Amino acid sequence: MLHDPDTDAPIAADARQTPAALARLRARVTTLNARYRHHGATAVLEGALRDSEAGRIAMVSSFGADSAALLHLVAMVDRSTPVLFIDTRLLFAETLVYQLELSERLNLQNVRILRTDTARLERTDPYGALRLRDPDACCDLRKTQVLDNALTGFDGWITGRKRHQSPSRARMAFFELESHSGRIKVNPLAHWGPRDTLTYMEENRLPRHPLVEQGYPSIGCAPCTSKVVPGEDPRAGRWRGSDKTECGIHIVNGRAARKGADK
Ligand code: SF4
Repeated sequence: MLHDPDTDAPIAADARQTPAALARLRARVTTLNARYRHHGATAVLEGALRDSEAGRIAMVSSFGADSAALLHLVAMVDRSTPVLFIDTRLLFAETLVYQLELSERLNLQNVRILRTDTARLERTDPYGALRLRDPDACCDLRKTQVLDNALTGFDGWITGRKRHQSPSRARMAFFELESHSGRIKVNPLAHWGPRDTLTYMEENRLPRHPLVEQGYPSIGCAPCTSKVVPGEDPRAGRWRGSDKTECGIHIVNGRAARKGADK
């Protein structure tokens, strides 16, 4: 449920996507970008989590190869920030252990582990084979719908996306309007360069996901992630052998990307 920034009154889901509601949200995003345009990641996070203009914000984290940096920043601003972690039930055991250990180390106090409803999973994908015949449907079932449901109570969410990651993100702002959902998307690391995440983790002595040193620079579900050899694109091991490159959680051109897009 979205909330009015002035009165804190809830806004019904269907009311937040009307032209008038989207125009108001766009104005809020413009205000936030103007307010924080000369600031860095920490100030943007503080704004996202404390500025009434932003509303109620959650962080979404995969506890993957580079997640520790943004989680650390969030923990420093507010350890009670809701952190949404989607357990597809097909993750590496190392990811589940890393999630627990990193959450404890950073003293994150509001990590929410999200899973597809068991009955629905048994009905739709009882043997875990949906990924073989329709990986987009599998991601939709195990990730996208789970996240969509979890975000129902929030006005926006924090991502780790960066400008350098793709041409389509080259002008990405700290705050974006997600028009298909009527939410704000917050990108505090938008201006970070390719090495900034690693440098930040080294300087703060943050543990990396244990599979990184085993040749997995990008880590998703175990059946859909393979090792990458030196010189390959870091994401070459995701859905190797198929043209799928995206789980469907991120948004392309303001729309949910159910098929091929970037991270
Ligand atoms: S990454 Fe693979 S196993 Fe995980 S949800 Fe997507 S298709 Fe299914």
